[in-house]
Amino acid sequence: MLKVGLTGGIGSGKSAVASRLAERGAVVVDSDRIARDVVAPGTEGLAEIVAAFSERVLGPDGALDRAALGAVVFADEAARRTLESITHPRVRARSAELVAAAAPDAIVVNDVPLLVEVGLAPTYHLVVVAETAVPTRLERLARDRGMDPAEARRRIAAQADDTRRRAAADVVLTNDGTLADLHAAVDALWTDRLLPYEANVRERRAVRPPRVELIEADPTWPLQYARLAARIRHAVAPADLRIDHIGSTAVPGLAAKDVIDIQLTVPRLADADGPLAECLADAGFPRLPGEWWDTPRLPGDDRWEKRLHGSADPARPVYLHIREAGTPGWRYALLMRDHLRADPDQRAAYLLLKRELAASAPDAATYSTAKDPWFDEEHLRAEEWAVQTGWRP
Ligand code: ADP
Repeated sequence: MLKVGLTGGIGSGKSAVASRLAERGAVVVDSDRIARDVVAPGTEGLAEIVAAFSERVLGPDGALDRAALGAVVFADEAARRTLESITHPRVRARSAELVAAAAPDAIVVNDVPLLVEVGLAPTYHLVVVAETAVPTRLERLARDRGMDPAEARRRIAAQADDTRRRAAADVVLTNDGTLADLHAAVDALWTDRLLPYEANVRERRAVRPPRVELIEADPTWPLQYARLAARIRHAVAPADLRIDHIGSTAVPGLAAKDVIDIQLTVPRLADADGPLAECLADAGFPRLPGEWWDTPRLPGDDRWEKRLHGSADPARPVYLHIREAGTPGWRYALLMRDHLRADPDQRAAYLLLKRELAASAPDAATYSTAKDPWFDEEHLRAEEWAVQTGWRP
């Protein structure tokens, strides 16, 4: 099952995206709708609200009078919390029920207006954000929902802004064009990303970056890492494991292969097997088949064992290296990164080497072993630097 979070500011086209995804075959779980259902007449939810706020929040028909309830909780923080303690657990439980009822190969899309505000992003395999320029949103809301622009502006101001929503988004669907444009973008997302991503998660298959290709440093790499790390943190919880961005994409300004390297620290390497590996695979980071180790940089070491996971998301290759805390390989990954971040000359030398190799080495295996001699020397320089600066992992 693939879990997709869908959000967007009011009037951005979130519902339009959800309907199109439903047409393609997604199971849409609409949290606005659930929020209404759990307080519908005859529900326990409504009875609790009446018990907490009296019958003044009911309309003449016995249904919840949202305006009256809104007036009660609007300026009263404690009242709002009471209301949320009644509604939120019920919305969560009902959503979980609907998700659990979906088929094992379903693509479940959770349409959640306040996904970013509530901090739900790490609970999904992918977060999709619909984004539209504010004037267009005001126009559409007035035209289709008869919403007064001043009221629409007030609601927009109460939600997260585009920058914050973008930071949580793996995919941004801009919806400034026609509905046909939006549908085409949704269809492409469905076919090129969601379908293969779902199959990969179900079959525990990681995407392998097809070839060595250096690209210019992408300033969004750290942000992409932050989203992946939050997802990994959520997947391994309640274990509170150290997670670091390592490798070339963690060094600002360095051209690199478009693969985000992440190090997950475990107390003992055996902890990486069993339930942890399963949780990571479920979250979209399946283990790569085979045994993995790093080439030792110290004479006398045999090999630096690790576990290696990849990404099931066809559009975001990842290497997730699981290493034991305090081991030489673990330390080296952090030291290399920090040394390259700190020393522009080493960065330039490394870049030169990478460019030469990318031009001459045909495959990934040759590419990584050909870097070994340089790394052996860089290791000594980095260790000297660590002594001089008092560096600690
Ligand atoms: P949200 O669910 O994010 O509040 P909606 O999907 O309901 O937004 O979109 C707001 C209104 O704008 C709806 O009436 C919808 O049909 C309309 N709409 C959405 N996208 C477009 C578009 N690209 N062109 C024209 N109208 C649109």
